[in-house]
Amino acid sequence: MKSLMNRLKTMLGLDKGDADSSALRPEKSTGKKDGAEDKWTEIQRLLEAMPADEREELMAENRSDCICPNCPSYGEPSAEKREALFCCDGKSQSIGAVEDCLCSGCEVAEKMGLDHSRYCVNGNEREQRGL
Ligand code: SF4
Ligand code: SF4
Repeated sequence: MKSLMNRLKTMLGLDKGDADSSALRPEKSTGKKDGAEDKWTEIQRLLEAMPADEREELMAENRSDCICPNCPSYGEPSAEKREALFCCDGKSQSIGAVEDCLCSGCEVAEKMGLDHSRYCVNGNEREQRGL
């Protein structure tokens, strides 16, 4: 299966010939030096450039892969509101305290290059990066 990065580049036509996605890269970095942050930043630029319906399709895929409903911190109120994907959507309207966080074992975290956790109470990846 193609990586998310390759899939995004294919959708945007950046995987042919000497096509280069450098034009989509931000002019300044967020300051951190680990590879995961670079991956997240590039993915955000690619997502911003892709058609809305394709972006929504990818987000829907991530939402269905989110393992928050298996988390001990995720209770009935969250289930009733069908909350998920806090790393993108931001804080939960229901979760007030976190006992443990499963995000580090979630395939969405690896796929999207996430660098944080406890998104339900601390805010989404962008917020936790101070962006
Ligand atoms: S990283 Fe965390 S918040 Fe994001 S989809 Fe996975 S389990 Fe859900
Ligand atoms: S963001 Fe982390 S702590 Fe919050 S519900 Fe999801 S897995 Fe649990």
